[in-house]
Amino acid sequence: MEKLANPQKTIEIIQRNDFHFQKRYGQNFLIDAHVLEKIIAAAGITPNDFVLEVGPGIGTLTQYLAEAAREVVAVEIDRDLIPILEETLGEYENVTVLNQDILKVDIAALAREKNAGRPIKVVGNLPYYITTPIVMGLLESDVPLESITVMVQKEVALRMQAGPGTKDYGALSLAVQYYAHPYLAANVPQNCFIPRPGVGSAVICLTRRGKPAVTVKDEKLLFSIIHASFGQRRKTLVNGLKNAAELDFSKEQIAEALRKTGLSETVRGETLTLEQFARLADELAWKEVEETP
Ligand code: SAM
Repeated sequence: MEKLANPQKTIEIIQRNDFHFQKRYGQNFLIDAHVLEKIIAAAGITPNDFVLEVGPGIGTLTQYLAEAAREVVAVEIDRDLIPILEETLGEYENVTVLNQDILKVDIAALAREKNAGRPIKVVGNLPYYITTPIVMGLLESDVPLESITVMVQKEVALRMQAGPGTKDYGALSLAVQYYAHPYLAANVPQNCFIPRPGVGSAVICLTRRGKPAVTVKDEKLLFSIIHASFGQRRKTLVNGLKNAAELDFSKEQIAEALRKTGLSETVRGETLTLEQFARLADELAWKEVEETP
């Protein structure tokens, strides 16, 4: 079937259907075939795969997915796009479009029904306003998941794959890397979309780990510590944790836990690896236990 991924075809479909872009839905449609091929290659789509697509738009990426995968379910919130998708994807018998909000879809049930509960691949040119809820929602859930390959704001892609001591390193890097191996597959310039987004974009592939990167006694405490450390980036870790509303440790307790973890009392959170945060969280978890009457 003729590909939708070129400016003329996209504009023709939009005009013929009198479609109006909705800024609030983060609508920037891809018009570059090379970028679409890169997404399919980065996601490693095979004819055995079931793929969940987030936000098909007019079906540009969906076409490529339908041709590479066994089955595709595409979830689109904008009901004005549904008749367009019926037209553009009508010939593909392995595609189902759901007119729903992706954040409300029972993805575990979809994986059971469509993939016999085996890990699924999630692909999409994401609406940027909900990148973190979509990605973290999937990683933190018990949805059987193999990988997430998505177009995101470039800055967000850099944060997801950043390591300690770099300017992009932060709570998002650690949360993503706890659950997945990130790989930045492509940088995508603004002129690959209609309308052009105000920011640069990148394709990131997150392959879910078999188990989290580190083992801790208290996962919730680990992430509270991470958030507190980066909430006050300029402060030392001791001061960042001491001042955090969600934690209740004294300066002395934090300093002692840092010593036991082999870290200096003047260390800043942005230099710690995930492994070091995990050891620190375990030291502080003992303090919580000691204090409980
Ligand atoms: N995949 C298309 C492409 O690459 O040309 C469109 C990508 S566009 C960046 C994001 C799409 O996600 C839009 O079609 C938008 O309407 C849809 N969308 C926005 N919020 C959504 C949500 N909460 N659930 C499902 N789809 C959503």
